[in-house]
Amino acid sequence: MPEGRIVKALSGFYYVQAEDAIYQCRGRGVFRKNKVNPLVGDFVEFENSNPGEGYITDVKPRKNELVRPPIANIDQAIIVVSAIQPDFSPLLLNRFLVLIESKHIDPIIVISKMDMISEEQLETIEKYKKDYLEIGYKVITVSTKDSENLLIAKDHFKEKVSVIAGQSGVGKSSLLNAIHPVLSLETNEISESLGRGKHTTRHVELIPINGGLVADTPGFSSLEFTEIEAEDLPDCFPEMRERNADCKFRGCMHHKEPKCAVKNAVENNEIPSYRYDHYLQFLEEIQNRKPRY
Ligand code: GDP
Ligand code: ZN
Repeated sequence: MPEGRIVKALSGFYYVQAEDAIYQCRGRGVFRKNKVNPLVGDFVEFENSNPGEGYITDVKPRKNELVRPPIANIDQAIIVVSAIQPDFSPLLLNRFLVLIESKHIDPIIVISKMDMISEEQLETIEKYKKDYLEIGYKVITVSTKDSENLLIAKDHFKEKVSVIAGQSGVGKSSLLNAIHPVLSLETNEISESLGRGKHTTRHVELIPINGGLVADTPGFSSLEFTEIEAEDLPDCFPEMRERNADCKFRGCMHHKEPKCAVKNAVENNEIPSYRYDHYLQFLEEIQNRKPRY
C-alpha cells in the first residue's frame, strides 16, 4: 500500500504527497466509524485507484495536533515578535511559548524589524535575546533588509514542518515572503472578515519551503490557556522543568512551597524575574479559569 503525507485538504479531498507525486484522495468510510478525521500533516496509507487518485485507508498515529489551523505532526513553531511596532513584549512572547510548549512543539523565536530600532532599543532587545538563549531557546533577529540573517532564518525551515505564530503586524508575511517570494500567508484577519465561522473547516495547506513544509495559516490564534492544567504549567518553562527535581516537594508549583529550587534560582538571578512573574500570572489565570462544564 503506498504511503504519504496529506499536504492539503479541500472540498472533501485530501492531497497526499507520496514519493513520486501528489494523489487526490478521498477518505474511506472507515474514518467516520473510528472518528478519526484525516488532518493536513497526517501520514496515511492509501489505495491507488486511478492514475493520480486514491482512497485513504489508514491514518498513522500523530505526535501532536492543532485545532487552529487543523494540522497534525508539527515539528516546530516559529514565533515572530517584532522589536518595535508593535513593541517587543516579553509577556506576549512567554504566552506563545507556553502554548507551544504545552503542545510539545519546538519553538523558535524570531525577532523582526531590527532595522527600525535605535541603539538604545537594540541594547534592550540584545538583553532579552541573551536571556532566551540562556534558557535554551533558538533566537534569530531579522529584518527584511538583512539578507544574511534571513538566510539563517531560512535554514531553520529545512526538513521540518513549521507553523508560524505571532500577533498581527509583526511581519510574519513579510518574513515568509522575503525567504520564499512566492509564498503568501493567509491571515486570520482575512478569514474573519470573510465571515467564516469558528467551526467551519477552511482550506489549509502545507507549502514547500527550503526542503521543509510550512502551514499557509498562522497558528495559535487564540492566546487563552483553555487547554492547559495548572500542574502542567511548570513543564512549559524549560528553566523550571530542569530544576523540578531539586525542589523539596514533588510536584512543587514553585509558588508557596518552601525549599523551592526555582524560587532560589530567581533570587540568585539565574532565572529572569520577569519569566517567573509571568509564570505566576499565568498560574493565577489558569487557577481562576471557569470550569468548562
Ligand atoms: P503580519 O501581519 O505579521 O503578517 O505582518 P506583515 O508582514 O503584514 O508586516 C506588517 C508591516 O510591517 C508591513 O507594513 C511590513 O512592510 C512591515 N515590516 C515587516 N517586517 C519588516 C522589517 O523587517 N523591517 C521593516 N522596516 N518593516 C517591516
Ligand atoms: Zn519549586
